[in-house]
Amino acid sequence: MSTLKEFNFKNKRALIRVDFNVPLNTEFMVTDSTRIHAAKSTIQTVLNDGGSAVLMSHLGRPKGKEDQFSLRHIVKKVSEVLGVKVNFVDDCIGEKVEKAVSELKAGEVLLLENLRFYEEEKSGDQNFAAQLSKLGDIYVNDAFGTAHRAHASTAIIAEFFPEKKCFGNLLAREIESINKVLNDSQKPVTAILGGAKVSSKIGVIENILDKVDHIIIGGGMTFTFVKALGGKIGSSLVEDDKQELALVILEQAKAKNVQIHLPVDAIIADSFSNDANTKEVDTNQIPDGWMGLDSGPKTADKFAEVIAKSKTILWNGPLGVFEMENFSKGTIELGNAISKATKNGAFSLVGGGDSVAAVKQFGFAEKVSYVSTGGGAMLEMLEGKTLPGIEAILK
Ligand code: AMP
Repeated sequence: MSTLKEFNFKNKRALIRVDFNVPLNTEFMVTDSTRIHAAKSTIQTVLNDGGSAVLMSHLGRPKGKEDQFSLRHIVKKVSEVLGVKVNFVDDCIGEKVEKAVSELKAGEVLLLENLRFYEEEKSGDQNFAAQLSKLGDIYVNDAFGTAHRAHASTAIIAEFFPEKKCFGNLLAREIESINKVLNDSQKPVTAILGGAKVSSKIGVIENILDKVDHIIIGGGMTFTFVKALGGKIGSSLVEDDKQELALVILEQAKAKNVQIHLPVDAIIADSFSNDANTKEVDTNQIPDGWMGLDSGPKTADKFAEVIAKSKTILWNGPLGVFEMENFSKGTIELGNAISKATKNGAFSLVGGGDSVAAVKQFGFAEKVSYVSTGGGAMLEMLEGKTLPGIEAILK
């Protein structure tokens, strides 16, 4: 794998694609700087070598040049996190930018304006990528969150650096972590797939069936399986057109000797609200007018047992509607079980959309081995796809 270690950045300009797509409040202050912290190690490596760093990123979904999406809003925060002065140029290609880059000295950092102010970024325009490529000697991709997109700055640009391109530390660690689960794992391997729908996780389930020993299914997905098996699910979330598929998955798992664990009890509610009346019932005995919004205590014990004996754990998706306090317990208990197994030596990877939010909200981020920074990108890797941003470096 091509990493920063292959290069000496002394007197070199590193053109680094970072993911600074951070949330801003109405005063344009950064409300969560996780992604900036995540890029720090790569930028510091370059600066410590005696190089300079040109940072490029997108922010939000602007339609043309919209000031609310300007990266100038985050300059102060980036500078604070990195502990160095950060210069800013209000464009990302062209003469003005090239001049700012040429004036950059060793140890200095320059942040470019939002790449998505040009539609050529998302369309993967060759000429736009060529213009960007003039801004550095070595191209470093450290943006896992956009690695599944074939955009100009994430993939196309790499062609202009045939020998001088590599992964940043963050992206390298993301790839390593997923490898540790999918290709280089210690057995038994357990994947926990929760969240809302079977349809959004089916690609992952199909790909990991050959790689894991246990699959724990939870969240809204549960009820498509339970209904397909003949259970009563009341008005729980269900994808009727995926019932057949659920049965096929169960069959395939059996044939491959993979144990599938479904929740045995549920916390049900008479409306989709934190204030709803609730009851605890078996997952396949949900009365009409009630819906399953969390898994119950028997499920928590059953899942904890599987997790305790696992050496490798992948967690994607909450076990209930964790955003509502009354339906967050199943997810919290699961997080506790994974934290405990990690403490006892298991490798645990959490990633893909909402599970990261849950892990942070409930304080598990420090207790698992690795929390991925990419939602969609992580899911696509778990589906076995080669991401354009990764392929472009490996080519
Ligand atoms: P995903 O993005 O697919 O990981 O789905 C995460 C979402 O699934 C969260 O917003 C949860 O509130 C939701 N979810 C989890 N369990 C259930 C459930 N039993 N019924 C409805 N939504 C659920």
